[in-house]
Amino acid sequence: GSDKNKAEQGSTSQGNIANIIAIASGKGGVGKSTTTVNIAYALMAEGAKVGILDADIYGPSIPTMLGLKNEKPSSSDGKLMMPLNANGISAMSIGFLVDEADATVWRGPMASTAFNQLLNETDWPELDYLLIDMPPGTGDIQLTLAQKVPVAAAVIVTTPQDIALIDAVKGIAMFDKVKVPVLGIIENMSYHICEHCGHQSYIFGEAGAEQMAKDQQSKLLGQIPLDIAIRQDADFGESDVFEHSTGEIASYYRKIARNI
Ligand code: ADP
Repeated sequence: GSDKNKAEQGSTSQGNIANIIAIASGKGGVGKSTTTVNIAYALMAEGAKVGILDADIYGPSIPTMLGLKNEKPSSSDGKLMMPLNANGISAMSIGFLVDEADATVWRGPMASTAFNQLLNETDWPELDYLLIDMPPGTGDIQLTLAQKVPVAAAVIVTTPQDIALIDAVKGIAMFDKVKVPVLGIIENMSYHICEHCGHQSYIFGEAGAEQMAKDQQSKLLGQIPLDIAIRQDADFGESDVFEHSTGEIASYYRKIARNI
C-alpha cells in the first residue's frame, strides 16, 4: 500500500534487511520481549544474521535482556546510528536514547516518530531477520507501526490465560486488517515443571493457545514453559539459548525458529 511506499522512500538502510518480523502481543507482561530475544539467538544458532528493533517505546526491556543496559549507540557519519551488538545480534532501542521515564509519557505521534527514527536512521548491517519487539496492545500506535513498516510477517505471543488469549485474537485481527500474514502463535508460560518431583502444572490454564490457534485457523508455533532460568537470564542480560544452544531451553526456541 501507499504507507509501505512511504516507509521505503524514507528508508536509508532497510535494503539490507531480508525479512522484517513483528513480534506482538495483545496484552503486556506475557513474555513478548523475552521471547523475542531468545528467538533471535535461536535464529542465529540456525545460521541467520539477526537484528532486534525494540519498538516497545513504553517499556523498552531489550537493552537489559541483551546485557546492553546504559549503552549508547555511536554514529559513523554523524547521520546514521550504529546498532549495538550483543553476541552478534544487532540491536536498536529507544532505551538506548532516552530515559525510560521520559518515553512513558509520550503521545502516539511522538512514539511513532521515534519508531521511524529507530528503523530508518540506523545503519543496519545485512540481516536475514529483523525482529521488531512491538508495543503490547492493538491500539492506534500498534496499527500505525504495522502499516508503516514493510513487515513480512507477524508472530503473536500469548500465555494460555483467557484474558491474554482474548487480546491475542485482537492482535491477529489487527494484522489481518493491514494484510500482514500471521505466521502463528507462541504460547509462553505454558506450564511449570516442579524441580523436585517433575510434576507439570498448568498455572495459566492448559492448551489455551492450541485451541485458539485452531479457532483462528492459525498455527501454534511452540510452547515455552515457565522456567526460572528464562527469567534469570532475561534479568542478567543473558540467554540460555546462546550459552547452551543444544540444551533443553534452547530446543523450545529453536523449534520455533525453524518454523519462522
Ligand atoms: P512483555 O514483553 O510481554 O511485557 P517480558 O518479556 O518483559 O514481557 O516478560 C515479563 C516477565 O516475565 C519478565 O520478568 C520475564 O523475565 C518473565 N518471563 C517471560 N517469559 C518467561 C518464562 N517462559 N519463564 C519465566 N519467566 C518468564
